[in-house]
Amino acid sequence: MKKQAFSHRGFMLDSSRHFIPAEDLRKLISAARLCGMNRMHWHLTDDQGWRIEIRKYPRLTETGAVRGRSFFGGVSGTENNSGYYTQEEVREIVRFAGENGIEIIPEIELPGHASAMLAAFPEYGCRRIAFGEDGAEQETEPWEYTVERSGGIFPNLICAGKDSTLRFVEDILDEITDLFPFRMVHIGGDEALKLHWRRCPDCRRKMRERGLNSADELQRDLVLQAGAYLAQKSRETIVWNDVLDGGLLPSYFIVQQWLNGEEQTRKFMEKGGRVICSDTRAFYLDYPYGSIDVKKIWQYPRIPAWAEGYEEQLLGTECPLWTERVTNLGRASYLLFPRLAAAGLKARQAEELPWEDFLGQVKGIQREIQAMGLNGAPEECWDMPEDRAKEDRQAEHDRIFAPDALPYEMKERRLTLLEKTERLMLQIGIPESFALRAGDREMAELSGKKTAGNDDGAGILIRQLAEAAESREYGAWKRIPEEIWLDTMRCFPRFIAEYRRSYGRDGFDRGGWTVRQAGCRLFRIGELEYELLETDGKRAVSIHIPSDTRLEADRLNDSVRRAKDFLSEYYPEWQGVPMICESWLLSPALKQMLPPESRIRRFQDAFDLTGEDPEDCAALEWVFYVAGGQRDSVKTEDLPEKTSLQRKMKAMLLSGKKPGSARGTLAHAFQ
Ligand SMILES: [Zn+2]
Repeated sequence: MKKQAFSHRGFMLDSSRHFIPAEDLRKLISAARLCGMNRMHWHLTDDQGWRIEIRKYPRLTETGAVRGRSFFGGVSGTENNSGYYTQEEVREIVRFAGENGIEIIPEIELPGHASAMLAAFPEYGCRRIAFGEDGAEQETEPWEYTVERSGGIFPNLICAGKDSTLRFVEDILDEITDLFPFRMVHIGGDEALKLHWRRCPDCRRKMRERGLNSADELQRDLVLQAGAYLAQKSRETIVWNDVLDGGLLPSYFIVQQWLNGEEQTRKFMEKGGRVICSDTRAFYLDYPYGSIDVKKIWQYPRIPAWAEGYEEQLLGTECPLWTERVTNLGRASYLLFPRLAAAGLKARQAEELPWEDFLGQVKGIQREIQAMGLNGAPEECWDMPEDRAKEDRQAEHDRIFAPDALPYEMKERRLTLLEKTERLMLQIGIPESFALRAGDREMAELSGKKTAGNDDGAGILIRQLAEAAESREYGAWKRIPEEIWLDTMRCFPRFIAEYRRSYGRDGFDRGGWTVRQAGCRLFRIGELEYELLETDGKRAVSIHIPSDTRLEADRLNDSVRRAKDFLSEYYPEWQGVPMICESWLLSPALKQMLPPESRIRRFQDAFDLTGEDPEDCAALEWVFYVAGGQRDSVKTEDLPEKTSLQRKMKAMLLSGKKPGSARGTLAHAFQ
């Protein structure tokens, strides 16, 4: 247990989404002092507005601080949409805060949340390439930027590949460090979708030159450079914990932990890193009281589990107030008070206080704040009964998804999902050019552009993998072990490789089959695939043999054993259901053709056959790599004879017989 008050007792105000007039800032700072705060994190730049005068680049505020009507959901209008702080005003606020015992930490967001910056300076955004059918890169129309008018995450990133961008950032940081005397500077780093970077020739070149393996590593690289620049000026750099996705940071950085990634943050602490806790479950004060009330703040552990053992490196806590749906001082006061008082009280106390004592002190602070003319939330919101809390959360949900904001919300969801889908495609080994072509289709659709008709299956691929990625996060795939998830998804690159073998270019034509994998009904476990089949109320586990299966007894038995364990743990109602197989590999005709020691024959021996289809020709696909669409046009005489199986089967076909297939139940171990 940490025995003294936290050195960092922070709150964050977002002047970007809605501009907070200087006069209101002063009132909030005075009230924050009463709450025991000693740091104000000032979120000055974001997609929806650039709010600080930079003398070297006046366009940042001329263009970036001006926004039309907004569509944030529940808050649609023009109140405090535009505006910025002159450098004189900033100095005055810094001075005023200092008199109140509060140091200000400015935040300039990099590389994402940069739409307003890029609307003013599109030249610091990325160039853009597209991949043609032949996989060749070509530069295409540039990205368009605007000061965004709705909430959410946008794909607009500053370009990490151009040296000029870094100079631009350094110029801005020069003026920032000149204005803010406190040693800490925040450079953001959260929610950076890498869609632009993957398609930028400059970013791609930079990754190659620096030996970086992913766009996340490129972000870390950019952060390291900005951090080193600030370190030269004896400043400490704070970043959101998302940056750790690209690898650990040196311990002279400070990480602000807000959402997910606690394991990485803990590793950062193990290496000596310092952390500020802004856990969304306790400190996000734009969330409704139904999600976070005073009691929840009181209950939140003073030292969260991920920081245990590293108490000295937990600098403290910080409460952000994001302002998408906060347009004025009245609303800000309602959300901040008394929750900020509760968080401040917790950060100042070395020991946990009993609830009644805690509540009593919060009440005292709230009275003082009320006396300043700021109206906080009434006491009925401080410890909400669950039914009231549920209503309150629903009301907030309804605001966010209000009809005028809904299209923006849906678009954001699809963009975020596209980012996850592109990551998945690259992770499982889909060729990059085809993956990005597939992603381009989704982006074109999102911006309302028509897409070309023939896409070699890229459109189906991206839809199915998006479904799978979404299911992995929220649906049936969520609870399935990582190895089975990834092994199952690797059918997609395998089918793309098979398509290439047939047609000489990347493509995907197995969407009719892979609905099972995407839909979490078919699992790759070791060498074999297992499908949960239910027809007319009868259940069976159907075994499939992917084209890369190694028909080795040990591996096959291991696969079956693991599949049984898997079913008993994740689908207990499918335990003991017969495992069946329907395949050309079980064909009796094939059995006659092959020698007894053949692996296919030994595979067959594990099954008791229950039926056969002598007319079936599916074997052609597997033995001769004839794509389904080509089966009718193929000439038997032209089939290859590279393997002994090919030679034997070709001879059979020439004699007028068909390879056939059979069904069987798995009844014996593989020998
Ligand atoms: Zn770039």
